[in-house]
Order: sequence, then structure tokens, then C-alpha cells
Amino acid sequence: MEERPVSVSALILDFDGVVVESTEIKTQAFQEMFRKHPQHLGAIKEYHQKHLGMSRYKKFRWIYKTLLKKPLSKRKLKALGARFSNIVLEKVMRAPFVPGALETLMHCKDAGIPVFIISGTPHRELCRIIKKRGLGPLVTRAWGSPMEKSAAIRKIRALYGLRSADMLFIGDGVFDYDAAKKEGVPFIARRSPGEPVDWARLGVPTIADLTPLTRLQNLRATAAPAGAAGATPSAVSMANG
Ligand SMILES: [Mg+2]
Repeated sequence: MEERPVSVSALILDFDGVVVESTEIKTQAFQEMFRKHPQHLGAIKEYHQKHLGMSRYKKFRWIYKTLLKKPLSKRKLKALGARFSNIVLEKVMRAPFVPGALETLMHCKDAGIPVFIISGTPHRELCRIIKKRGLGPLVTRAWGSPMEKSAAIRKIRALYGLRSADMLFIGDGVFDYDAAKKEGVPFIARRSPGEPVDWARLGVPTIADLTPLTRLQNLRATAAPAGAAGATPSAVSMANG
């Protein structure tokens, strides 16, 4: 990113671990929820961390079916979701921003670059957090669970007339990467503290925080009329290790 500015038509951000430092809050919440089953806590932690970005409801279903081997009614599932929200909501509201995240949102607003947030957090909870943290005016649109991440990308393309190759997706989970790859959106991983994804093995460029994104340029403002083919964001040049 130092050598040449990266131009994008839109920025797509995962929320937990990308906008706010909330990954550990969610990891701990799963441990708290199932502390009566200490023999499974290791497996629960591993599954959660391998599936960052996946809906918590899917994780509950997996835990009940595979580890607890107990039936899980719709009512119980809903109760688990509510309990999880109670544990995490206030903490996520107070969690610090990922360095550079707020500055990136403000920069994109100024530069006219739309910012979309796609999260595995339930949609209503996500919207509440965005609003309460004062991010509403800085975010073009947000989608939470049960909207799948790849479906959200398709919506962005359809609703805003944007091309996948012109956008940039920042996530910290393999789930984010899979959605970006499926939809052809350039992807950079944010290396979350303590998260186990081996991005190098996947050939994914990484950034330690969001500071490099404060230098993004608006593709529509910078692209030469004949330069459409060369206008693809050079995601790799943004990686700072
Ligand atoms: Mg995340």
C-alpha cells in the first residue's frame, strides 16, 4: 500500500475482529454458556474459532448434536441465542475499535466509498450495536445473520450496481474468506489477536489492523475512462505482512 494507493468501488467489512475487538468476547461467551460441560470446552472453543463469522445458532446446533448429543428444540435454541446476546451485547458495545477502523469508516465517508458490514451476528443485534456505537452515518448498509455472507455480496452487486472485482472485503475468519472467494471479491485478512487461521497457507494477504485502509481511494473518482481492466483493486499491495 505504501507504493501505490489502492482504488476500490466499495469496502466490505466483517464486524467482530475487524471493526471492533470483540472476537475474544464471543470466544469467552461460548465458554461461559457451556461451563457445565467442562469436558467439551476445548472442542467448543476450537469449533468456534474455526468458524468465525458463522451464525451462533449454527454453532449451538453443532454443539448439541455432536458434543452434547442432546435434542435442541426451536424454543431452547432461541433461549440460547438470547442468553448469548445478554452475555456479549454490553461488552461489544464497550469493546475498543480495531486500530484504524473508525478512521477508515470516516475516511470512506469523506471519499465517497460505500462501506458495507456483513456479520454472523444476528441482524437486529448488529444494527443495534452499529447504531449505539454511532456508526450508522458511516455505514452504507449492514447485514447480519441469517443472511449468508455470499448472499449479502450478491445483494450489494445487485442493489448498488457494483462489480465484485472492484470491491475489497476485510475479514478475520475463514467464513469471510470463503464468501469473498465464492463471489470473486478481493480479500485481505485482518490478523485477529489469538486467532488460529493460517492465512499464509491459504495464500491470503493480511493486515495487522485497519490503518492501511485509511488511504483507500475511490475507484470511481480515480479510474481513467479506458482503464477499466486495470482498475481492479490491487489487494496484495495493501498487505503489510
Ligand atoms: Mg470476525
